Amino acid sequence: MNKIFQFLLDKRQIYFFFKHRKNFLFESIDEKNIKDEEISIYLTVDFEYDYGSAGEKKDLQIENFIKNSDKIFGNKKATFFVQGCLVDKYKDQLKKWQNSGHEIGLHGFDHELWGNTQWFINDAYKSEFERKILLEKSLTEFKKAGLNHPVSFRAPNLVMDDISYDLLNKFKFKFDSSASVFSGPVLPYSFADIKIAPVSSDPKPKIKWKSFLPFISYDMFHLKFICESSKEDFWQSIKRVFNYQKENGIKYHLIIFMHSWEFGDPSINNASLKYCSSKNWELLNEKLDFLNSKFKLNYKTINEFSA
Ligand SMILES: [Zn+2]
Repeated sequence: MNKIFQFLLDKRQIYFFFKHRKNFLFESIDEKNIKDEEISIYLTVDFEYDYGSAGEKKDLQIENFIKNSDKIFGNKKATFFVQGCLVDKYKDQLKKWQNSGHEIGLHGFDHELWGNTQWFINDAYKSEFERKILLEKSLTEFKKAGLNHPVSFRAPNLVMDDISYDLLNKFKFKFDSSASVFSGPVLPYSFADIKIAPVSSDPKPKIKWKSFLPFISYDMFHLKFICESSKEDFWQSIKRVFNYQKENGIKYHLIIFMHSWEFGDPSINNASLKYCSSKNWELLNEKLDFLNSKFKLNYKTINEFSA
């Protein structure tokens, strides 16, 4: 029953149109404002079970991801948010990445919930005590593997609450990239000593159709959007993000959101995963090259985030 209410109260429902109506008119930045700018870009990868909470707790895609990862990450810094339970199995690669300047952050222990239950996932609520145990277990895995104490966190499904932020603060985390941007962009903010770096999201919504119902949808800068959008749509979207940042006095930056399983053909039957393919390495590179032709990109890790 709770799920039905959550679904009906989702701000993306069409009857909340009045809340979003102004955003439909949001404009792109004038290009002369960004021409000679240096843009910080944060590539982030959730290094996790195939298909996250929609999968079967398998990690069949990871080997392939690692094998090809130099195609992008050989010369571009990134942050890998790793599930605590996968650290031991992939510790050699994780250490290699850490030693070459990438950051290893934490993505929960077993892809569980770090906030309230949600209508779109089946994961059960975790108490504060359960979350504390999961954090301790994860930190032990990092230590055993010889990795640095992680300082950056991303909650699975971008679901967080203040209980989890309090715990992260106690366990000396300094950055979080879990803010929910599904209902529109969120500005960077702080919680205690934690800097919150939301994934970039287009401030102008679109109407999309889901199961024959209209839904207000904001394009997040995740791999699906990057690989499927035309160069022109992508560029307009980027320029709206920068306009939004300029209007709010935020330094120009982009936070890109990917998953380890998005770079191989899907092994489960799900129409929404059709874009997952080894071609995405090339498609992502094309878009990054395109951006690099427009301004100077400065690749950073989340623990270098400032806005
Ligand atoms: Zn995830």
